[in-house]
Amino acid sequence: MKKEDYKNKIAAVINCSQEQIFLYWKGRVALYAILKAMGIGEGDEVIIPAFTCVVVPNAILYLGAKPIYVDITAETYNINVELIEDAITAKTKIIICQNTFGLSSDIEQIISIAKKYNLFTIEDCTHGFGGFYNGKPNGSYCDAAFYSTQWNKPFSTGIGGFSVINNPNLIDKINNLESKKLKTTLFDNVTLAALILFRKYFINRLTHYKFVQLYRFLSTKNLIIGSTQGSELTELKLPENYFKDISTIQVLAGIKRLRKLNDLNELRKINAERYTSFLSKNNKKYIDEKFFGNHLFLKYPILVKNRELFLVSAQKENVILGDWFHSPLYPVKEELTLWKFDSEKFPIATKISEKIVNLPTDVTDNTDVIRFLDNNLNLII
Ligand SMILES: *Cc1c(COP(=O)(O)O)cnc(C)c1O
Repeated sequence: MKKEDYKNKIAAVINCSQEQIFLYWKGRVALYAILKAMGIGEGDEVIIPAFTCVVVPNAILYLGAKPIYVDITAETYNINVELIEDAITAKTKIIICQNTFGLSSDIEQIISIAKKYNLFTIEDCTHGFGGFYNGKPNGSYCDAAFYSTQWNKPFSTGIGGFSVINNPNLIDKINNLESKKLKTTLFDNVTLAALILFRKYFINRLTHYKFVQLYRFLSTKNLIIGSTQGSELTELKLPENYFKDISTIQVLAGIKRLRKLNDLNELRKINAERYTSFLSKNNKKYIDEKFFGNHLFLKYPILVKNRELFLVSAQKENVILGDWFHSPLYPVKEELTLWKFDSEKFPIATKISEKIVNLPTDVTDNTDVIRFLDNNLNLII
């Protein structure tokens, strides 16, 4: 069974048993299953960082519960642990923490707060598969964790996701949901296979920006399998065919990509070290070496004064930069109030989202990127 093989290989990285791993069409579906297994519903509150992907509050809202945002720290881009207790009420059921760009949250502190108030914890490991927190694999600490294998995540199956369940009391409940998963269609499999091949053979530095634009356009119009469908960005209703199982294509792609994970993660660290040394030498904001042990460096975040100008110049020079979290609820830019997000209450996340740019860490040689930074130093904060 290929699925069992895939689960085994994932479990080997997280250092858990294969029975703790559950596979889904996307990472958000894994989160939704975890939330359901934790029994949340109407009126319940779930604490999440105010700097995340909109699909996280969506999964909470689809179940009738309420996302309670907590601001981040400017140093870590992760939830500010000092602010968590103020956000807890009698209705709070869960704390979700995230490893933004690959850097772990202060999980030990978060878990001790959760214990004090008898709350579940979930780690959003969509940026951190293969990384560590205090020596143990990301996803080991909380009651459950979920991962994404979408295009730009630690390893890619086009789109895809899975979870690890650490709390034994949740295993039966998650298992009960297995039979509810919808099967992928022939269209899903064929389209995804085509996209994966297309990316492999046609996407490079010179074509990247054009195709990303086209892909995002087609997927918001639901004309292609997208990372995020149209309705997920405009309304709070559970989309049709949301609770979907993983497909064969994803399982096969996953098994293949996992073989290269260690090499890729080594490369990420080497590139990150070069960025850190360049930025600190030039008195710009950088990621301190003290964070390196708990960082996977999926992306390397920097802040810039004029992002539009910065990205336009990068595009002209075919330097591939990312604009992840250009909004606190990425990628939704407007009307965050629909998601019960009040920008004024989260000044750090809001300010950072206006200035953030992410540098690639998966390139074999980041000399071009550093040269670009050097030529645009005046725009970097
Ligand atoms: C990508 C991402 C997700 C969702 O993963 P999918 O596999 O696309 O559903 C959740 N949280 C964060 C922080 C992400 O970046």
